[in-house]
Amino acid sequence: MNNLRAGIGMTSARTRGRMVERLREQGISDFMVLAAMGAVPRHLFIDEALASRAYEDTALPIGFGQTISNPYIVARMTELARNGRSLQRVLEVGTGCGYQAAVLAQVAREVVSIERIAALVGQTRKRQRELRLSNIKLKHGDGMQGYAEGAPYDAIVIAAAFGAVPEMLKTQLAEDGRLVMPLGDDSQVLLVVTRKGDGYLEEKLEAVKFVPLLPGVS
Ligand code: SAH
Repeated sequence: MNNLRAGIGMTSARTRGRMVERLREQGISDFMVLAAMGAVPRHLFIDEALASRAYEDTALPIGFGQTISNPYIVARMTELARNGRSLQRVLEVGTGCGYQAAVLAQVAREVVSIERIAALVGQTRKRQRELRLSNIKLKHGDGMQGYAEGAPYDAIVIAAAFGAVPEMLKTQLAEDGRLVMPLGDDSQVLLVVTRKGDGYLEEKLEAVKFVPLLPGVS
């Protein structure tokens, strides 16, 4: 690490500390999630031209018409997915720049993350290697089908909105496993689905705004 990088790193640690304080004020209370948000260098997941805005509570463009979610929603979805449990395997659908996957990787033993845009997979794989995020397995594919080889999952996080819960993903949940996703098209809410035996419990929470989940790969 050169001096410039080290300098940026120190400044960003302070800025991240303020972001974590704000998350606490916004109602995030899971200490593991707050620690994860404090540890992951969000500015290294976005274009350098936008890096100075990395710790604002805002969504930012990551190219290909996609966005990185604002810090609050990343923390909120991680808190809902974890629900105070220690997580073994977690599946993320919609890797994007890999920020949410990096946060999940702090609170889970292993993360599988699927992205449909090949160019984003390439960029994100390089970034994960540089940041030595070795417990994330990145896959290029249609996440609606999930990733059966890695199932069952303690948690599944979908980072793009859809009008219904993808059936294949439900079946890949472990007992008491939790799936968190934005449900809806134009108007969306956060949905938590919990597997209980042969059935599923559904809980609808606050309104959110995500890019759409799209079929197939590109
Ligand atoms: N978690 C991401 C957010 C990215 S936005 C982050 O931290 O940056 C949502 C992402 O979902 C986009 O990159 C989009 O290409 C991807 N996506 C949409 N539909 C998908 C699908 N069916 N399978 C996999 N990824 C999908």
